[in-house]
Parts: sequence; C-alpha cells; structure tokens
Amino acid sequence: SAKKSGKNRYLFFDEKMKEKFNDKINIENALRKALRNEDFLLLYQPIIETRTGYISSFEALLRIRGNDISPEEFIPIAEETGLILPIGKWVIKEAVKQISIWAEKGHRPLPVSINLSPRQFYDASLVEYISKILEDYGVDPSLLEIEITENTFAEKKHEIINILNRLKALGVVISLDDFGTGYSSLNYLTFMPIDKIKLDKSLKDKFIELESIKIMGRLIALVHGLNLKVVTEGVEEIEEFKRMKRAGSDYLQGYLFSKPIKQEEVEKIFNKNYMDLLS
Ligand code: C2E
Ligand code: MG
Ligand code: MG
Ligand code: MG
Repeated sequence: SAKKSGKNRYLFFDEKMKEKFNDKINIENALRKALRNEDFLLLYQPIIETRTGYISSFEALLRIRGNDISPEEFIPIAEETGLILPIGKWVIKEAVKQISIWAEKGHRPLPVSINLSPRQFYDASLVEYISKILEDYGVDPSLLEIEITENTFAEKKHEIINILNRLKALGVVISLDDFGTGYSSLNYLTFMPIDKIKLDKSLKDKFIELESIKIMGRLIALVHGLNLKVVTEGVEEIEEFKRMKRAGSDYLQGYLFSKPIKQEEVEKIFNKNYMDLLS
C-alpha cells in the first residue's frame, strides 16, 4: 500500500543518512588513528616541462597507509573536523624532509608542491611554521611550492593575499590549483599573488578536441600575458600531450607520464625524459 511504501521510503532515507554519518565517523577515526600512528604517506607525481620533456617538479599527494580511501573523500572531513591543521603540518614537514633527503643523496634539486586547504590560512602561525621547517631541514624555499584553490580567497581576501605575499617573499612558489572548476574568472588572476595556474583535467577534457583546442591556445596566451605559467593536469594520452604542447602549456602532469608513486620509486625517474613519447 501507499502508506507502507511511504514508510519504507522514510526508513530507507533514514538508513542512508545513518550510513553517511557512520562513514564520516569512520573516516574521522581513521584520520585520528593515522595521526597518532604516523600512518600518513605522501606519494609523488612528476610534472613535466613540455619544452624539454624532463621532470620539473613533483606534486605530493596524501594517502593513508594501508587504507584505500581517497583524499577526495577524507580531505573534506579533515577540513570539517579541523584535523586538516595537524595533518597539513605533517604534510609540510614530510615534503620538506623528503626534499632534503633527495638533496643529500645527490639528486638534482627538483621542487615539490603541496596542497594547502583554505583552513590552514586561518592558522596565524602558518608562515612561521613553513619558514622554520625549511630552515630546520636546510631546504631552499624555492624548492617548495604551494597549491591553493580559488576558494582560499572566499573570505578574508586581503589577509590571504598578505599571507601569500609573505610566503612569496620567502621564495616559495604559489600555484592556483583546479582552474576551470570554480568561477575561474580572469579578473581573479590579476589580484592573486600566484606564479602558475593548474588547468583542471575537466577543463582540459572540454577543450582538447580538434574543434576547440584553439580556444585553449588563446586561454593559455592570455594567462601568459599575465606573466603566469600554465600546468595542464590529467594528461592521459599521447595526442593530449601533442595538443597541449601546441597550445602552449608550459608543464604537463598526468597518468601518461606517471601515476603518483612512492618516494623510493621517484629516485629511479629523477632524470627521466618523456619526449620520446612523441616519436
Ligand atoms: P589535486 O591537487 O588537483 O591533485 C590532482 C589529482 O589528480 C590527484 O588525485 C592525482 O592523483 C589525480 N591525477 C593525476 N593525474 C591524473 C590523470 O591523468 N587522470 C586522472 N583521472 N587523475 C589524475 P588524488 O591524489 O586522489 O588527490 C585528490 C585531491 O585531494 C587533490 O587534487 C587535492 O585537492 C586533495 N589533496 C591531496 N593531497 C592533499 C594534501 O596533502 N592536502 C590537501 N589539503 N589536499 C590534498
Ligand atoms: Mg594539487
Ligand atoms: Mg589540481
Ligand atoms: Mg584537481
């Protein structure tokens, strides 16, 4: 009967909500446990210089050891619960430590970029923390890059700009991540103290077709006109490599070159050149 199915529907809705709630609690617990036991792990994905085919930097991407839950799922919960502050500090320290280890081993110095959540900018000690860690490990600030998203500027715009300028004064490079997923207004690009923009995979996918790749070329020319470098994310095919190269993207990142890999695998590819993919 209608009454019965109505009741079932209500029950179903209730169960779904409960499931969601339980997932959240489980993820929050997993995050707390990982913090306690130092079970976080950074994977590194190479970013390729389009002109030469050599690796120009790595992006550090967070994982929980022995847990396949994706950052797309656990980062929002870390942000909601405030756990992103201690986790974010761990990421900063671990990335800088890794840069110093590679330097000690004699690898040519390649920068590492880390992702910062908007919430981390409300921590008054962020800049001091970063500069202290760099000093402690004897790492040149130009080897650390920071990736932020547009929504970092949603509140306290002037304070955020001020913090970014202090980081830039240290020598830290700033990238705007996920360009093409938010407002992506070009006006934004003129006031943000950034050095690069990262075109999101979804934007690349939208303009990679032969009929529209010209538009991509014009967008990149415009961004270059603002004195910013362009990184294209999510490059998976050789044809995309060719087209984004022609469109003028300075750097490329994606599974075509490498998935995010463990630190010990990174050492094997430091001097790899990817240009032969085009021959
Ligand atoms: P993001 O910063 O935009 O990172 C790029 C994401 O695209 C990564 O997902 C990477 O593994 C994935 N990716 C790279 N190449 C390809 C490709 O060719 N195809 C496809 N389909 N995907 C590709 P991941 O590692 O799952 O991270 C997801 C997001 O989680 C990141 O997006 C970033 O927003 C966030 N995140 C990861 N680590 C951290 C962290 O340490 N702190 C903060 N605040 N956020 C993080
Ligand atoms: Mg990123
Ligand atoms: Mg991105
Ligand atoms: Mg993204």
